[in-house]
Parts: sequence; structure tokens; C-alpha cells
Amino acid sequence: MQEMALTEYKTFLSQNKVLSSSENRDAEMVRRVGSRIAKAITDYYTKQGKGDILNGYKWEFNLVDSKEVNAWCMPGGKVVVYTGLLPITQNEAALAIVLGHEITHAVAGHGNERMSQGMVAQGIGVAGNILTSGNAQVNNIFNSVYAPGAQVGVLLPNSRKQEYEADHFGLIFSAMAGYNPREAIPFWQRMAQAGGGQKPPEFLATHPSDENRIAKLQGYMNEALKYYKPVNSSK
Ligand SMILES: [Zn+2]
Repeated sequence: MQEMALTEYKTFLSQNKVLSSSENRDAEMVRRVGSRIAKAITDYYTKQGKGDILNGYKWEFNLVDSKEVNAWCMPGGKVVVYTGLLPITQNEAALAIVLGHEITHAVAGHGNERMSQGMVAQGIGVAGNILTSGNAQVNNIFNSVYAPGAQVGVLLPNSRKQEYEADHFGLIFSAMAGYNPREAIPFWQRMAQAGGGQKPPEFLATHPSDENRIAKLQGYMNEALKYYKPVNSSK
């Protein structure tokens, strides 16, 4: 899975304009926020004695120049943010919320679950070692789950259960990384508002949002706030 993800990721980077973190402040911010979230997640799993969940992870955080409102994390820790997301995140804490959410999807294996569902739906046996990059049908399903360059219409959306789990842990990881989890509420309100236009953000296609999400987030807030220690250098 990580191998297939790496191939997709490299192709994506070669076909898109990646902004340099040494020359672009927003790209530097993406790298900074992402690194903090990744460290919080690594510390969390290590303390739990589950560090092997992150085996094979080599974190990378890239900002690509694109009007699309989107961000994702591939299995193996390859994270991409599109510049079109930044007017909606507006601040580092909200960006941390998004990255915490996306990284949780990857680390919790949500893509694998969706792939399994996709394979069952297409009558492909899930048993055994079928997840090899040589199988064209498997590749198609992989693309429908991850494919960063694919049309949104062909992507399989996350299940509601996966969304709540990613929101829950994303909030906690953001707080552990020193970002105010309260920013999640106005962020999702801005995202929902952006969804009211003619062309809803790509992010909303795979992350359907409604009032239930915000109510759930509010329900997770007190727990997340227990982990929240603001970092001085965070703005
Ligand atoms: Zn999600």
C-alpha cells in the first residue's frame, strides 16, 4: 500500500507546481504545522507502545499551487496541501486541524478500509496478498480511494464513522501539537459556507459536512482541550 501510494505521490508532484518551503512562507508554514502534528502523533503512538503503526512512514509536507480546496495524506506520511485551502483555514491552528484530520485517516488505515469495501463491491477477493501494484483492478480501486489527480466524482467518500474518528483524533493531535482545537468549529463553518457556492470544494466531496459534524466536534472539545498547551512560536 505504501509503495503504491509513493508512486502516486511522486507522479502527482511531478505534474503539479510544488512551492518551495525555503522561498514561500505558506509552504514553510505547511511544513512547520505538519511536522508538529507528525511529532505529536509519533509521541502518542510511541507512548502507547504502538509505534509500529508508523513503520515505513517518512513524513513529507508539500504545498502545491492550485485553486482547488483540498489536502490529503497518503499512507506512508506523504502530505499535500493545495493553496486553495488556505483562504478557508486562515490560520495555523485551523490548518493543524485539517492536517490532524487527514493524517488520522492515513494512520488509522481508513483508505485500506475503503479499498476493501471497493474490492468487495467489485467482487474482487480481499483475502490473501492481493494489494500488489500489478493488478489493474486493484489499481483502479486504489485510484478511486486516493488518486490525488483524479476527478472528484470518481473518489469514494469517507464513511461517516471514519470522518468522526478523524475529527476526534485530529482534534486531539492538534491540541497535543500546541494548536487551539477550538479553531475547528469556525473552520468547518467556513468550509460549509464555501460549499454553498456553484462549485463545492473538492475537500467536501470526500469529507461531507453538515451540522452533525460540528455538534460532534463540540462534543470532543473538552477532551481535546485537556491536551492543549499553546506553543509560544505559534501564531
Ligand atoms: Zn475526513
